[in-house]
Amino acid sequence: MIVIMTPEAAEAEIAAVTEKLQSAGFTLHRSPGIQPVVLGAVGGNGYDDREIRQMAGVAEVVQIKDEFQLSGKKFRAQTVIKIGEVQIGGPEVVIMAGPCAVESETQLRKIAPTVKKAGGKILRGGAFKPRTSPYAFQGLGIEGLKILRKVADEHGLLVITEIMDAGDLPAFLDYVDILQVGARNMQNFSLLKELGKIRKPVLLKRGISATIKEWLLASEYLLAGGNYDVILCERGIRTYETMTRNTLDLSAIPLLKKLTHLPIVADPSHGTGIRDHVIPMARAAVAAGADGLLIEIHHEPEKAWSDGPQSLYLNQYEEMMEQLRIIGSAIGRKVEAPHLKPSLMFE
Ligand code: PEP
Ligand code: MN
Repeated sequence: MIVIMTPEAAEAEIAAVTEKLQSAGFTLHRSPGIQPVVLGAVGGNGYDDREIRQMAGVAEVVQIKDEFQLSGKKFRAQTVIKIGEVQIGGPEVVIMAGPCAVESETQLRKIAPTVKKAGGKILRGGAFKPRTSPYAFQGLGIEGLKILRKVADEHGLLVITEIMDAGDLPAFLDYVDILQVGARNMQNFSLLKELGKIRKPVLLKRGISATIKEWLLASEYLLAGGNYDVILCERGIRTYETMTRNTLDLSAIPLLKKLTHLPIVADPSHGTGIRDHVIPMARAAVAAGADGLLIEIHHEPEKAWSDGPQSLYLNQYEEMMEQLRIIGSAIGRKVEAPHLKPSLMFE
């Protein structure tokens, strides 16, 4: 149930409604940064709302029949996540780029300056890697987090990296700006519940076989815990097609824009698995309305310890950024990238 207060509602009136609903067994969520105040009351089915409707300061009570109680548009029009100077979910398309895995400080130092110079705002890199084979490189662990933080700080970038185990949370809180929940963990509900308790942004990737409904319900686990800074990331789903690693479901972007206030990011690297297809799909994702992109890049992709075949060369990343800037301007979105060199036209 959503309770919309009047613009004049006093804090005491808001508190009275909150207490009334809490004592009826609801968990209350106050929509952040919104005037008039909107209260999301989660739980308690079949509640008779007549008394609430009569209370001072209440403008409207909306019974939500769908399951997207806190991720739906009725709770909030648009989430804009602010981390320092960076805003995700606003007019700017925010680019997050870096290697699949943090391999060493030297490696990250070769990549980070280009991420920044070309207009990227957030440095990516896995320190805890979910690998299909237990014999493959599993990541540098906490050492990788420290390297990410250090190199990102040297270049004025933020850090995004994947968390697989809630037991690692203290280290992530120390070193990381955005916690990524990978496709394999989208429905790891105990992990999501723990991440719902923290107050740092979480990027929730779509599971490889997840429907949009399952994905949004997974996001509800984070929101229901009171962590409202959630970003969704479309990274491709498994279909019958075998010529690409995954099928990047770009139609999810406009669909989610209608369903949810959460920012939506696309990952064309895992979405295609093939370097040559990353830039075209990145362009398409921005054109489709993505609020950001997560892109794998490497200074020597052929030597990368993971996901080399889908990692862009640094110069390709720069070209992509220049192209995205033009696409952004065509649809009223900003992509902070340097101006197009005459030689770099769309292929
Ligand atoms: C990654 O971003 O490196 C990653 C492992 O992604 P996904 O969870 O989408 O496979
Ligand atoms: Mn990867």
